[in-house]
Amino acid sequence: MGLKPANRLEKLPPYLFAALRRKIADKRAQGIKIINLGIGDPDTPTPDPIVDELLRAVQDTADPDRHRYGCDCPVPQLPTAIRNFYKRRYNVDLADDQIAVTSGSKDAIVQFCFGLLNPGDLGIAPLPGYPTYNIGHVFCSAGTHYVPLRQQNAWLLDFDEIPPEVCQTAKLLWINYPNNPTTAVAPLEFFKQAVEFGRKHNILTCHDSAYSENTYDGYKAPSIMEVPGAADTAVEFFSLSKGFNMTGWRVGCVVGNPSAVKALKTVKDNIDNGFMRGIQFAAAAALDNMESLVPPINAVYKRRRDMVASALAEAGWPVDVPKATIYIWAPVPEKYNGSSAAFAEDLLEKAGVVITPGRGYGVTGDGFYRISLTYPDDVIQEALDRIRSIAGK
Ligand SMILES: *Cc1c(COP(=O)(O)O)cnc(C)c1O
Repeated sequence: MGLKPANRLEKLPPYLFAALRRKIADKRAQGIKIINLGIGDPDTPTPDPIVDELLRAVQDTADPDRHRYGCDCPVPQLPTAIRNFYKRRYNVDLADDQIAVTSGSKDAIVQFCFGLLNPGDLGIAPLPGYPTYNIGHVFCSAGTHYVPLRQQNAWLLDFDEIPPEVCQTAKLLWINYPNNPTTAVAPLEFFKQAVEFGRKHNILTCHDSAYSENTYDGYKAPSIMEVPGAADTAVEFFSLSKGFNMTGWRVGCVVGNPSAVKALKTVKDNIDNGFMRGIQFAAAAALDNMESLVPPINAVYKRRRDMVASALAEAGWPVDVPKATIYIWAPVPEKYNGSSAAFAEDLLEKAGVVITPGRGYGVTGDGFYRISLTYPDDVIQEALDRIRSIAGK
């Protein structure tokens, strides 16, 4: 049968790490021990109190709905916990129609696009940036206008770089701080500009706050919802994945503009069935207890961050120490002439260490590379020893 997949799959961008992934497989096939510091997926387990709450809920025989469709049997404690989280953390009051519970942010970004974009519409996305914003556009046959993020602007999107014709036609703008991959953080003043930009041009600003809780040295990331009137023109995507070591659980939310939240809910009503009550109870418990659950998780990343920063400085390849996220983002050493691919290849070839070339996040990410801190200390240490041994050569 000559089955031909839908044309939309052909419009997806090529997977930029495909070549690297092949090389890793080749090396491993040759029996070479490769250390991969490329992927951002927490290695330490979900905190016990969250797991305990899941176990309690799935075994609660007094709850006859515990195994049923999550959409038909929602746990009201979860939206309440989200509302309380925004109140405690940001002093933001969210109304019922400003909250949609989601199965994580990645899924929600694409579903959100289905609810908002028509074929031929335009969305604005940062470059380097998380690829899913563009993928959401592609699935809706909408276009993407990329705005470069620049080191000299502290990786903050410069609204003045968006051409007037794009301001006139675009429907969505994606921003993400603390930022993946650059680790940049944004002050509340930046979010004020984003809201103002959205209001002026009738563009919905979509803030991806996946890393809002992964912060260090006393830094607290602001929410775009703190800007007065933000809900008129903005939404925020929050996820429990990174802050609570819960990537596999698939829990998050979209909050803010009620029309946008409603559009997302309509899409969700038609293409998913929610998720298990036990996970909803556990997610509520996670948010309710974040003050005690999050700091120990961040202590692990902070320790690793400092390990990596000092080892790379010793190697003569100094890096900026990030205030947030689970990554280090650093310029490629000088001898590679700004080619992140050449650096990644050399590290793999000579040291058997995999890092993520910034080029994979878009042309303006070239010249930089990303190390993920989601690997055990001893694995990171061995990778750093290997890197140091080749750094001078
Ligand atoms: C990890 C990540 C997400 C997605 O997380 P989910 O597990 O889908 O909630 C969203 N945005 C950015 C920038 C990320 O790095």
